Amino acid sequence: MRQSTLIFHTRKEAPKDEVAVNAQLLIRAGFIDKLMAGVYTYLPLGLLVLKKIETIIRTEMRAIGGQEILMPVLHPKALWEKTGRWSTLESLFKFKGLNSEIEFALGPTHEEVITPLVQGENLSYKDLPVYLFQIQDKFRDEVRAKSGLLRGREFIMKDLYSFHATEEDLNTYYEKVRGAYETIFKKAGIGDMTYFTFASGGTFSTYSHEFQTLSESGEDTIYVCESCRVAVNREIIAEQRACPECGSEDLKERNAIEVGNIFKLKTKYSSAFRLGYKDKDGSEKMVVMGCYGIGLSRLMGTVVEVSHDEDGIIWPLSLAPASLHLLSIGAESEGLKKTAERVYNGLVKEGIETLFDDRMDVSAGEKFSDSDLIGIPYRIVVSEKLLKEGNVEVRDRKTKTVEIVKEADLVPFLKKTFLSS
Ligand code: ATP
Ligand code: MG
Repeated sequence: MRQSTLIFHTRKEAPKDEVAVNAQLLIRAGFIDKLMAGVYTYLPLGLLVLKKIETIIRTEMRAIGGQEILMPVLHPKALWEKTGRWSTLESLFKFKGLNSEIEFALGPTHEEVITPLVQGENLSYKDLPVYLFQIQDKFRDEVRAKSGLLRGREFIMKDLYSFHATEEDLNTYYEKVRGAYETIFKKAGIGDMTYFTFASGGTFSTYSHEFQTLSESGEDTIYVCESCRVAVNREIIAEQRACPECGSEDLKERNAIEVGNIFKLKTKYSSAFRLGYKDKDGSEKMVVMGCYGIGLSRLMGTVVEVSHDEDGIIWPLSLAPASLHLLSIGAESEGLKKTAERVYNGLVKEGIETLFDDRMDVSAGEKFSDSDLIGIPYRIVVSEKLLKEGNVEVRDRKTKTVEIVKEADLVPFLKKTFLSS
């Protein structure tokens, strides 16, 4: 991608009312634009990151048998009345259509749609278990939408729902999802700081777990057992002051961001919608359910919160909008232009994702600071001076280490050192 073609430029300042670091950096670097509190547009660079997150999650969901669907965002009131959540869910966006008598909700989660959807199929024991997921915009009228992508009023979630004949089967699958979530957060570069966290199930289940990423800006407080690498949340610490795995009371209080949440719903929603199945002996039994969420937009914001410095964002290679940021620096002689184009085309031909700063009217200093702000993991510089020796410069955004490489050796060098995995 050529930077000269991007109409969304970097900015010196974020909007004054934007207090969250993730949103400040993402807006300044040209990844997102704020429409209003808690509502953002994904610009070309931001959408590239979002799509990488989506691919990581989709791959892991398929690996545990998930089948992807896409449910409506617009829900009729009647479904939400069936579970009582029309009046109890404070964050539910509700409105009346101008051309119809009925009222609607904008989906904040999809138990009220997926349970009757599956119920319509008259399941037998042979159909179970089944795992359905979607990746979609969710709507919640959050009171405090000041945390940028961490707390949107409109945000993107992956929600997976599982349907089982027995609770044992749910328990087995629940552990599989836990494993898939661990893989997802590891691939997204936050594995080391993300803790499997024991949480209360709210009003309807004793079982729930959160995936919490340590961050100063996190709105949640968790209590970490460092030897077991698990944590408990606020509600749990009030009931039991010890680690649920080893019994240690040496738990460290930390701020964290909830990036994922898994629940054993059991029969709460299947009872509400009479979702049963015909068992082997012909008897009718209740389907046992689980639900599993990850906020994709919150994950993107979390990565920025935990991975930046005073100059800008530092993307992990797995999520970066490109692997390389190629900068053409200095007096734009024909020779330099030609070399930069040659290097860029060589990288493109190799299938190496490259953002090419080919802008002509921008100073070297500005190109360097934009590059640090955007945060692509590896920066390649071509300049008149380097060119004389047939060299290019490779710099690691995170460690700031610089290496000089022969232009002819660049692709093999990159493949050997950075792009091997
Ligand atoms: P919170 O306690 O932070 O409000 P929640 O427990 O209500 O979140 P869930 O219903 O468990 O959220 O949703 C599943 C996942 O969706 C969360 O783990 C989080 O990653 C994401 N998520 C929830 N609310 C938001 C939001 N307003 N903006 C962005 N992501 C969100
Ligand atoms: Mg939650």
